[in-house]
Amino acid sequence: MNIFLYIIIFIIGISFGSFYSLAIYRIPKKVNIVTKHSFCPNCGHKLGFLELIPIFSYIFLKGKCKHCKQKIKPRYFILELLSGLVFVIIAFCLKIDIYNLNLDTIIRFIFIILYLSFIFLIAGIDKDYRKIEKNVLCYGIVISCFYVIYICIIAQTNIYKYVMYLVTLIILLILDNIKQLKEAKDSYVLDILMLIVVMLINTDIIVTAATILIVAFAIAIARGILYLRNALNKFKKENKKVMQTYKLGYLLCIANILLFIEQLYLMYD
Ligand SMILES: [Zn+2]
Repeated sequence: MNIFLYIIIFIIGISFGSFYSLAIYRIPKKVNIVTKHSFCPNCGHKLGFLELIPIFSYIFLKGKCKHCKQKIKPRYFILELLSGLVFVIIAFCLKIDIYNLNLDTIIRFIFIILYLSFIFLIAGIDKDYRKIEKNVLCYGIVISCFYVIYICIIAQTNIYKYVMYLVTLIILLILDNIKQLKEAKDSYVLDILMLIVVMLINTDIIVTAATILIVAFAIAIARGILYLRNALNKFKKENKKVMQTYKLGYLLCIANILLFIEQLYLMYD
């Protein structure tokens, strides 16, 4: 019987994945994510019911639009599959069992899914645009508030640190607003700081610290390689200097998901 439960969780996961693709495409373009019907980005053809089924539609349509035959990017398929798998892995880590369902586990699972949705959207948009989308960040702050309230209700101890995180988040939000009022420049660094505080609330300090360390380490290595390449170019008297910007939000999210899943696995083992 449990296998059916996990199949249902997988189907929910791929449906969420399908929604993530849509949201990552639409939010930066300011297209409504709820009311506007799904369409082919190339020819505008409205997708029919069968074309909306995640994963299977991609397989049956052989990765092409039914109408204009334009290739559909495999990343849609990959994101759906990945999301389905992550949902199943998390259910497995939480030891969700159809014969032994309890409310605490279900609520924990829902909070994790809400948080994962946040991470997927931040990562996807930052990967494409090098931008932390404000609306998604606000969503992250709202779910963090609910999570803190939930923790206050189930465990009366140790909540002061969460309250501290929330206060930090609010201060950053105010700073961000002031900065935006003063100059219309983007506030990537402040946004990254807010992302880190949301991570602190929804995972914990160890996972977040490890996330930052791993990303810092990876960037240091990438910088080192870049430095060597530029030095080599200079040596060969080639006058091209390669610069690189890093999509910090994207990198942090990837590292955070992996470490968070690992911690869940160890915690419930
Ligand atoms: Zn098309």
